Amino acid sequence: MPAYFDHNATTPLHPAAREAWLRASEKHWHNPSSLYREAGFASQALESARERLGDLLGAEAERIVFTSGATESNNTLFAGLARCLPPDACVAISAIEHPCVREAARAWLGRARVVEIPVDAEGVVQPDVLKRLLLEKQPALVSIMAANNESGVLQPWPELLKMCREHGARFHSDAAQWIGKLDASSLGTCDYLTGSAHKFGGPKGTGFLVLADEAESFPLLLGGPQESSRRAGTENYPGIEAMVTALEVITPRLSEVAQTQTALRDAFAASMKQAFPDLRIISEGAPRLWNTVLMVMPEHSNLKWLTRMSRAGFAISTGSACSSGKEGSSVVVQALGTDWEELKRVVRVSGGWDSTAEDWSALAEAFIEVAKGL
Ligand code: PLP
Repeated sequence: MPAYFDHNATTPLHPAAREAWLRASEKHWHNPSSLYREAGFASQALESARERLGDLLGAEAERIVFTSGATESNNTLFAGLARCLPPDACVAISAIEHPCVREAARAWLGRARVVEIPVDAEGVVQPDVLKRLLLEKQPALVSIMAANNESGVLQPWPELLKMCREHGARFHSDAAQWIGKLDASSLGTCDYLTGSAHKFGGPKGTGFLVLADEAESFPLLLGGPQESSRRAGTENYPGIEAMVTALEVITPRLSEVAQTQTALRDAFAASMKQAFPDLRIISEGAPRLWNTVLMVMPEHSNLKWLTRMSRAGFAISTGSACSSGKEGSSVVVQALGTDWEELKRVVRVSGGWDSTAEDWSALAEAFIEVAKGL
């Protein structure tokens, strides 16, 4: 693949994560719940990985439950709330949540108990809007993603978290797109936090949910007493070790990467706007992830762009991976009130930590070449 620009869908396995996975699989393949010495070592290694992840997130290790990824983490949270909350309690979620928050909340709690928090024209939750909603609806929990997977928009989550605390609501953030791209060291202050390894160079099928406190227990998967009876099933220690290693390796590089990649991404956006004067970049005026550009192309359907770009050797997307293949199903763009015709022309590019200036300029050139043939 000459140039991969779909890092918000998934990332390649980081070499350090691969090494860690192999080492863990060879050395500690035993079941951490078994009672002999080698199993004890596997259990110790698992607990050490939990401590290291807690350090990276600023969360007590005891609050971390390892899962198969963000989808499971979010389902665990809402299924648990459905069991614990009083029947008349509601939760509030932002209008641009990933389907595994939106659909999970609606399915587990019932649509009537899920209130939507509107976003402004740039896709950001405004604190005064949240404050009004907290006063009017008094939700038990507010769920607002840290960074959006489609537009890359960042939410002012520390301010929103503080406001929820002041109004007695718990705060959850799906930080699957933030972790590994921006400083995650204070995300553990959220009551609940969701993360996914494959978004930051870890393996697929591994993630975590940080709970509000260590005593809290609302398992989605029932069975054995693994994860302190909070998630049944033999722990995927090699995957967990690889996930934590990926985050440890990437974290010290983040400020340098953000600086370099923001400049490259903005140069790409400028070239695109020059080549296509009617092109619109969604949420351009808001703080965004350094790797993401969500564009409304001036003409032609996004599927046409996607297939032609793929033939030219570039992997891009129509929006979120969950909606790819379905023209114009971007949740974010719909929440921003974009019309149906425009929705069909939405294209997302998302670069990586090591995308080069050549990669970004080749991407812009490929769009220009493809346009000539359309
Ligand atoms: N939440 C967000 C914000 C995402 O971007 C994704 C992946 O697309 C998910 C959740 C789902 O993650 P996973 O593939 O780990 O279930």
